[in-house]
Amino acid sequence: MREAKKAKQAQQIYKASTEVFDVVVRCPETDNFFPTGVACDAGSFNSGSFENNRTQCPHCGKMHRWGDSEIALAN
Ligand SMILES: [Zn+2]
Repeated sequence: MREAKKAKQAQQIYKASTEVFDVVVRCPETDNFFPTGVACDAGSFNSGSFENNRTQCPHCGKMHRWGDSEIALAN
């Protein structure tokens, strides 16, 4: 559950901010994060649901399906 832990840490870091951040997801092949093309503020990130999205990965070239447990915020 390393992915879920990372996402949880990001939520805590950005909790107080109203800035808009890029939603990033971890590539399961290379263990690197990449932007999903989705952006949101911390409130939307914490309360929203992001299940069953798909983004092509720039690290391995594959299409990855991602959801709440795989994502974090980056700026
Ligand atoms: Zn990948």
